[in-house]
Amino acid sequence: MIEDTWTCHICGLPYCSGFGNNPEPFGEYEQRCCDDCNEKVVIPIRILSMSEKAESRAKAKSFYDLIMKRIEKRLQKEEGK
Ligand SMILES: [Zn+2]
Repeated sequence: MIEDTWTCHICGLPYCSGFGNNPEPFGEYEQRCCDDCNEKVVIPIRILSMSEKAESRAKAKSFYDLIMKRIEKRLQKEEGK
């Protein structure tokens, strides 16, 4: 049986299986992220960025930038292989 596996777009965890999660705003809907990233990164970011407090939205922005930088670094590394 061929298993449909994929790599987490956010942390790069390979051989994930199952439906995965929508990684937005870190990637496209077609890309997927693991449950761990969904719980620890994607959901908190969505909640923070919807907050009425400017402080929370600023936190979301800096968190977002940090994660995006990590993703870019990882993708560059993979391309350099
Ligand atoms: Zn992940």
